[in-house]
Amino acid sequence: MMLNIPRIFVFGLITVIRRSCAFLENTDKEVTEPPKIAIIGGGIGGTSASYFLSELFGDDAILDLYEADTIGGRLATIPIGERKYEVGGSIIHPKNEYMVKFASKFGLAKRAECSGHMGLFNGEEYVFKDSSWSFVTILKLLWRYGLDVYRLDELTKNMLGNFGKIYRLQEEGNAYEDVGSLLSAMDPTFLKMTHSSTASWLKGLGFQDLMINELVMAVTQCNYGQTPDIQAFVGAISVAGADSDLWAVDGGNRRVPEELLKASRAALLKRLVTEISFKEDGRFTVASVDTEMPFKHLFVEGNSAAIPEMEEQISQSQDYDIVIIATPLTEDKSNIKFTNFTEELKFPGRYERIVCTMVQGKLVPETLKFTDEDPLDEILVTNPRLIFNSFGKQSPVDLEDCSESLPDVWKIFSPNPLPEQQLNIFFKERNSTHVIDWLAYPHYDSDQELAKFALTPGMYHVNAIEWAGSAMEMEIIGAKNVALLAYKYWKKDPNAGRKTIKDEL
Ligand SMILES: Cc1cc2nc3c(=O)[nH]c(=O)nc-3n(C[C@H](O)[C@H](O)[C@H](O)COP(=O)(O)OP(=O)(O)OC[C@H]3O[C@@H](n4cnc5c(N)ncnc54)[C@H](O)[C@@H]3O)c2cc1C
Repeated sequence: MMLNIPRIFVFGLITVIRRSCAFLENTDKEVTEPPKIAIIGGGIGGTSASYFLSELFGDDAILDLYEADTIGGRLATIPIGERKYEVGGSIIHPKNEYMVKFASKFGLAKRAECSGHMGLFNGEEYVFKDSSWSFVTILKLLWRYGLDVYRLDELTKNMLGNFGKIYRLQEEGNAYEDVGSLLSAMDPTFLKMTHSSTASWLKGLGFQDLMINELVMAVTQCNYGQTPDIQAFVGAISVAGADSDLWAVDGGNRRVPEELLKASRAALLKRLVTEISFKEDGRFTVASVDTEMPFKHLFVEGNSAAIPEMEEQISQSQDYDIVIIATPLTEDKSNIKFTNFTEELKFPGRYERIVCTMVQGKLVPETLKFTDEDPLDEILVTNPRLIFNSFGKQSPVDLEDCSESLPDVWKIFSPNPLPEQQLNIFFKERNSTHVIDWLAYPHYDSDQELAKFALTPGMYHVNAIEWAGSAMEMEIIGAKNVALLAYKYWKKDPNAGRKTIKDEL
């Protein structure tokens, strides 16, 4: 007797059964066939995912990398005068092993770093200024913040030590379905830290309010445009971002994703992904449009009726066995539609707006309460109500020698665009002004909901890791994790990738 069950229900049931046995389940496919893999996003996350996938699968995979705009994403430079300057991700920690290894593998040198003077500004005065003599700076720090300075340094070193465990874990082929498990594998305290604000975590460890409200505030404002109310793991990343020996890539950090793409076997598709659909056979259809829109300029402005038709022509769909998404998916950052998935895919949260204003010109130091006789190159703020989060003098990405005579270029990070009137107060002379309006990094909570890398068997999200902390190295760690997850899925073997990856970097 035939039961009258609606088709949609049967399809749903089959899919649920498929998925519930789906750890690495991939039964109806012939595993010897090379998988077709789509990577969506050509920032450091997507390009490093392509690189690691090439390393794991060798020639046995077909890789397509979709990038709607420019390779590098949030690693970006702009020309000012004759030179180029970083306007996105700019500093790298010396303990960021992947970035260090990539730079060395691709023969990329470190850029010359010049020393300058830093002050912590509360809007009325400098609560702290460093000195040309490092021992005087240390004495001044101890005078104001006591032994908390030493304790914060120790805490950071200890955390960096535990953070470094991820490199061994990944080299051994371990992979994690969600961000919480990845953090716990490094150190169970890391996961706990994402459920506490930076301020209350530090208070719990006995740090004084002055330290939290000044030094820690200044680094969270500068690195994430947010206060120490952000969860403590990303707060600790901010503090590590104030260490010494930070570095950047000569010629611009975006050279790393450019090289990673070249070194991988991925084909670059300059297309905007609009939709990902789950297919009955367990594969995925990726729909995209050509971002170059070759004939768009032929249409008279205002007479755009024919454009949708044209878009239809240039839109395209391709099927893939595996999809790696390497771009944020919150509503404010993405329009990718997910269809036919049995579970609704949700990406809560929002990204923080950071406006980067680059000015080549002469500053009026008095407007920032310092003088030409006692100059400052980096102003960090201890007051979140100020109109800027940081104000710093910049060197071009190809600087070789600090004695080079260059026009002053200032980078101002602010939560909103700075009015012209205000810029005219800060600067007595402006040769050029460029504004880059970013949705830069997640807006962090004190008690952070963490995301999943594994969205469904065969589809993985690199940027889940940004909810623990957004930084170049974090994206690479996320990318390595999803490459391993994809490999295990395809091989139908949770042990696939273990120990097989030699340190080839
Ligand atoms: C102002 C600023 C300062 C920063 N400072 C630092 C720092 O000093 N040190 C540090 O380590 N980190 C820093 N960061 C963070 C770091 O830059 C990011 O964490 C990292 O670059 C994110 O890389 P990603 O590849 O994951 O994402 P992205 O770089 O955002 O790349 C995603 C890519 O996907 C593409 N894309 C999006 N949607 C689609 C689609 N539908 N179809 C096709 N392509 C699509 C985008 O065009 C983009 O190129 C900073 C970020 C900003 C914005």
